[in-house]
Formats: sequence, C-alpha cells, structure tokens
Amino acid sequence: MALEEYKRKRDFKQTPEPPAKLERGERRRFVVQKHRATRLHYDFRLEMEGVLKSWAVPKGPSLDPADKRLAMQVEDHPVSYFDFEGIIPAGNYGAGSVMVWDMGTWEPQGDAAEMLRKGDLKFRLNGEKLKGDFALVHMKSRRPGSKGTEWLLIKHRDAYVQEGFNIDEYDYSVLTKRTMDEIAGDQGSAEWKSSRKASAGGASKKNDWLAESIAKADAKKAKAGKKSAASKSPSVTGKTLVAKRAQMNPTQAKEAGVRHPAKAGKKSKTARPTSASLGGVKKNS
Ligand code: MN
Repeated sequence: MALEEYKRKRDFKQTPEPPAKLERGERRRFVVQKHRATRLHYDFRLEMEGVLKSWAVPKGPSLDPADKRLAMQVEDHPVSYFDFEGIIPAGNYGAGSVMVWDMGTWEPQGDAAEMLRKGDLKFRLNGEKLKGDFALVHMKSRRPGSKGTEWLLIKHRDAYVQEGFNIDEYDYSVLTKRTMDEIAGDQGSAEWKSSRKASAGGASKKNDWLAESIAKADAKKAKAGKKSAASKSPSVTGKTLVAKRAQMNPTQAKEAGVRHPAKAGKKSKTARPTSASLGGVKKNS
C-alpha cells in the first residue's frame, strides 16, 4: 500500500495531519507546502494514482530556468494533505509549521505514470505563484551512499520565466494569506480574521475544490476562534460569537472592503494577491 510509510512515521493521536487514506478518482492538483521543520524546505506534491507524490525541495521551486533545484523524493502523502496548513506539535515527525505556499492544477506532458517510472516527468503548472512548464528529472548518476531519491526540479523556458526568482518574496499562504511567522505564532487564536475575497459562496464552479479548501480553513479558524474566545473570556456569549463570526464573513468583508486590522495601513513588500486571482485555474478531471 502506497501510504504505509506515511502512516508508519506518524502518530495520529499527536499530529493534526490527515490520516493515511487512498483516494479514488484522478483529479490533478498540485500543492507546494512551505515547511519550517528542523530545516526550512518546501514540499512539492503532485496528485496522481490516488496519493500525493512528494518531493522535499530544500531551496524551493523557482521560476528561473537557471535554478536546478534538488528535490528529494519522500513518502507518498494522502490526497487530503493537499490543504494542510498549521502546526505539527514538537516531538512529532516533521514538527514545525506548514504553509500552503501554492496550489493549483497540473497537466502531464505525456503519460504521467510512465514519465514518473522513467524518472523524467514533464508537466505544466497552473498555480497562483507557479505557472508554466517544468520537469522533474531523476538523477541517474548517484553519489555513493545516496538513496536514489534525488531528482532535479527545473523550470522550462516559456512566458512565465522570472530570471532571478526570489522565493523569499513570496512568504504568504495562498489559502489564508498568512506569513510563516503568523502561522507559527497562531496557536488557534481568534485574532486572525479572513480578508479573503474568494469564499465557498462566491467562487465559480471551475475552482470549487479551491473554494472547498478555503471554506475548510475558514471553518477551522472560526472553530479555533470560538474555542479560544470561550476559554479566554467566559463572559462572551454565543450570540456575540455569532455576531463576531458574521463580522468576519469573507463575503461581507469584501462588500465592506474590510481588511485584516493588523495589516490595514501596513505596507508590505510582498504583494498578496487575493484568492480571486486563482479564478483562471482550470479543473482537470
Ligand atoms: Mn516536509
């Protein structure tokens, strides 16, 4: 079974990560998770064969063809890992914070299973940050002692090339717009409010999987907020909470032009495009 190793490495009583479960169906989504564990790295995952085929990329993907990024193939992850963002508690495998750095769909440029087997996977990404043609190439000439898990992630030349691509300028979640520090410092506090424009109600059917993920993150946030508000201040009534949650409803926020209070007026070097800009993502089946 493809998820044995994933299962073996984790204690699901301890970690909020999703359980090992093989998925039916062949949607072709990809996700890049920024993972601050013992060492900061990016996890590049392609949905295929009922799992997320996964590579750990120490320097992260690049839109510059000159950057040939080392990508170590790691254990398959369950498809539900796709929108996992949060904190893996200390003492667990991969302990640290995880951000959904990019997500979207991918199109294999040929037979996906065959290309994977041959170690030459060519594909096109339709993400928010990553777009265009890429290749994952298995390194045949392995250094002695290597496990044979080394691949290279390379951007091909096309309209989406960005010479000198600097991944540090893109430190925000495409799911929650939070920075890595914001995710790491968020132990389920109610302070964070959604300023997202896309919501389950507002998104088109084309990217309903994305809306689903965002709605899930919102619900989780609202739940965490409720919990922490309830524990911090017992005087807060259910009614007030409902009102508070209504205030952070993304659709209303959009209409009222409400922004994250902490970010309003603060100029960030990093542009944070809204999820609405993902509207061009095509759903592959
Ligand atoms: Mn990782």
